[in-house]
Amino acid sequence: MPNKVLIANRGEIALRIIRACKELGINTVAIYSKVDEKSLHVQFADEAICVGDAPSRNSYLNINNIISAAIATGCNAIHPGYGFLSENEKFAEIVEKCNLTFIGPTSEHIKTLGNKVKARQIAKSAGVPIVEGSKGNVETVEEAVEIANKIGYPILLKATCGGGGKGISLISSESELRNSFAKTRFEAESNFGVGDVYIEKYIENPRHIEVQILADKFGNIIHLGERDCSIQKRNQKFIEESPSPFVNERLRRLLGRAAIKLAKACNYQSAGTVEFIVDQKQNFYFMEMNTRIQVEHPVTEMVTGVDIVKEQIKIAYGHNLTYTQDSIKLKGHALECRITAEDPMNDFRPSPGLIKNLVLPGGFGIRIDTHLYNNYEVPPYYDSLLAKLIVHAPTRREAIRKMRVAIEQLIIDGIQTNIEMQYLIMHNPSFVRGIYDTSFANTFVKLMKENRNE
Ligand code: ADP
Repeated sequence: MPNKVLIANRGEIALRIIRACKELGINTVAIYSKVDEKSLHVQFADEAICVGDAPSRNSYLNINNIISAAIATGCNAIHPGYGFLSENEKFAEIVEKCNLTFIGPTSEHIKTLGNKVKARQIAKSAGVPIVEGSKGNVETVEEAVEIANKIGYPILLKATCGGGGKGISLISSESELRNSFAKTRFEAESNFGVGDVYIEKYIENPRHIEVQILADKFGNIIHLGERDCSIQKRNQKFIEESPSPFVNERLRRLLGRAAIKLAKACNYQSAGTVEFIVDQKQNFYFMEMNTRIQVEHPVTEMVTGVDIVKEQIKIAYGHNLTYTQDSIKLKGHALECRITAEDPMNDFRPSPGLIKNLVLPGGFGIRIDTHLYNNYEVPPYYDSLLAKLIVHAPTRREAIRKMRVAIEQLIIDGIQTNIEMQYLIMHNPSFVRGIYDTSFANTFVKLMKENRNE
C-alpha cells in the first residue's frame, strides 16, 4: 500500500478521500489554492501545500505544480477525485512517468474511453447496444445532414471529447443542423481542445441509468448495481438513487452484464461507471464510461456496504478485489440530493458568499458529505456543490420520508441554495411514485417558478 497520497482536489471529495486514506493507515497531503487556505481538506490532511492562485488553471489544473508538490512531500500516489484532472490522460501519463501511482485506471484507458466515438466502437464490438448514430466523427456539414436524414430528427450533435454535460446540441431539423454544425465544432474546440463531433439519435424522455463497476488488475470485475440519475438540469445531475425504481431484476441483470462486458473488452482496471440511456420500453444503450470516482458514488455505497474509494485505492496498489459478484447484495434504498450554491429561481445563478449559520442533519440512515462549516466563505471560482445529503432506508418510500426530515433539519444561511427545490421534489407525486425521466427537472423548475410568481 502507498504510505502517502496526494489528493489533487478540493471540497467534499478531498475530505472523502482523506477519510478513506486515514482508515487504511495512509498519510495524506492536501493541495490548495490561495483562496482555499482555510478549507477543511487543508486542516484534516496530514500535510498541505499551496499550488497556486484561485483560478483552477493556476492551481487545481496546474499539472507542474501538483506533480512538484507530490514529489516534494514524498508522496507515492495521487488521487485525482472527480472533475479537475481526474480524466486528463496527460496528467495520468505524467504521474505514471514520475513513478507515482495514479489512483484510477491507466492513462491509456482514460484516453480511449474519454473519446466517446472510440468508446462507442468498443461497446459495439463487445456486443453492448449503442444509440443509433454516426460511425465515427462527422467532418462536414453535408456528411452530418446525410446521416441525420437517415436516422431522422431530432438528433444530438455531441463533442467527441466532451464531458460534464457540456458540448451537446439538440437539433430538430436540417436547417438547424446547417446553422449549428460549425458553432458546435467551435465550442467543442474551445471547451475541450478537440473540435471533433459525432451524431446520436435523440432518445425521447429517457432515463439515465448507470452501473458502478470495480475491476482489479487480475481480470476480476464486479458490478455494484445501478444508479438512476435522471433528475438533471442542463445535463447535470442533482438527485440520484439506487436501486432505480424503473429497473426490474431482469433489466438489472442485463445492465450489469453489459457493463462488465464493456469493462472486460478494454481490460479496465479501477472503479468506473458505465452510463446507459434507457428508453420507455426498457431498451438500453451505452452512452459513455466515466473512468473516475463519481459524485454520486455514496448511494451505491449505502445499498451495497462497499467503500468504493477504499476499493479504488486498494486496486491501484495491486490488491485483489475484496468482493465477488455473489457477495454483493443490494440492501434497502438510498437517495442523494446535491445541495448547491445556486438559485433555482434565477436560472441557477451561482451564489457564492459567507455561510452565516450552518446546521447539518444527522441520525439513523443519514449521511452528509460536505466541506462546509460556520463562517466558511464559498469561493466563486469552483463548482457550486456544497453538500451531498444521502439517506438510506429499507424501502424507497421510507427513504423519501427520511430525506424530507433531513432537509427540514438542514440550514445553510447567508447564500442562496437549492434546498427548497429539493424539498419540493421530495413531495412531487410523480417523483414519489418513481415516474420520471430526464425531462422531469425542466418541467418541475418551470412550474415552481410559475407558482412562485402567482
Ligand atoms: P457528458 O459526458 O457530458 O456527461 P453524456 O453523453 O453522458 O455527456 O450525456 C449527458 C446527458 O445527456 C445524459 O445524462 C442524458 O440525459 C442526455 N443524453 C445523452 N445522450 C442522449 C441521447 N442519445 N438521447 C437523449 N438524451 C441523451
